[in-house]
Amino acid sequence: MAPQNVNISTPQPRAEAPKHTPPTLSIVVPMFNEEDVLPILFDRLSTFLDTLGESYEIICVNDGSTDRTAPLLAEAHKRDGRIKVLNFSRNFGKEVALTAGLDVASGQAVVPIDADLQDPPELIETFLKKWREGFDVVYAVRRHRNTDTAMKRWSAKKFYQVINRLSGVPIPANTGDFRLMDQRVVKAVVTLREHNRFMKGIFAWVGFRHAEVSYDRPERAAGQTKFNYWRLWNFALDGITGFSTVPLRIAGYVGMLTALAAIIYGVFLISRTLIHGVDVPGYASLMVAVLLIGGLQLVVLGVIGEYLGRLYAETRKRPLYIVESSLGLEPGRDNSQ
Ligand code: UDP
Ligand code: MG
Repeated sequence: MAPQNVNISTPQPRAEAPKHTPPTLSIVVPMFNEEDVLPILFDRLSTFLDTLGESYEIICVNDGSTDRTAPLLAEAHKRDGRIKVLNFSRNFGKEVALTAGLDVASGQAVVPIDADLQDPPELIETFLKKWREGFDVVYAVRRHRNTDTAMKRWSAKKFYQVINRLSGVPIPANTGDFRLMDQRVVKAVVTLREHNRFMKGIFAWVGFRHAEVSYDRPERAAGQTKFNYWRLWNFALDGITGFSTVPLRIAGYVGMLTALAAIIYGVFLISRTLIHGVDVPGYASLMVAVLLIGGLQLVVLGVIGEYLGRLYAETRKRPLYIVESSLGLEPGRDNSQ
């Protein structure tokens, strides 16, 4: 700053340290046991971001890794202050890790990205272009899924079909969390504090003007996937129950139809008894009816239970995550509640 003529007799406010100016771009990377991929990630991400010529920060959310992810992140932060770190006290899951990153991201535009380089950073350039054209959200759509197994492709297709039929907000198929969001979209996203966090649904729910960019999703650069089929199934259930109550309605309809069938059958049985007299045999039909209705009741109870369990999780009002330590982030910006 240029030296100023300061009148000593009147106290002047101390020249303030330059206020924290938000960077243009915040990259949010959730990480769980990613020691194998970290060196490759920072190498490729930082090299690319430097060529962009925009100010940026990389927020790494260490989701309770048990490998060398934490020390590697501390090292990276020491090397480059723009790499900031949030260490969770345990594994809270990717959706929560992502939320924590969004909570602290200060950039005018925010891009969540997977640690394994399956989301090519180079696409961010196109995102920025679209963002500058005036779109608030620019998301990446996979052109095809040929790096996935046939089973995963089929289940993903079915999942998007089902959820888009059931949920009130359209959720674009073949998108992940890889997208650019304007800071005002991020502000909207983080106001949704539900524990049942299906981020794709939350992103869709907040709305805003959006554009899409297609890309080919490469294989994981190193390390192992953290999502097996059981985890994906639970993820799908979270998505459906979080964004639709149609299963409850279906349960109601199934109940009504069964009751109707029972009434019709009852009328038939009574008339038959009145016309032909008492008919003792009937063990098979009795068993079938008892088992069918018993089974149906359990299914319907299960559906209700899914919602009730989630309702219970929400009413406890626990924080979404617990931060154990952080590097390079302002204290007090942890909005885990
Ligand atoms: N991840 C996370 N917490 C978890 C599981 C995964 O933060 O409990 C991160 C992981 O480190 C990666 C991203 O989420 O950066 C995507 O995970 P992964 O590549 O295993 O999923 P896939 O691409 O196979 O769906
Ligand atoms: Mg991956």
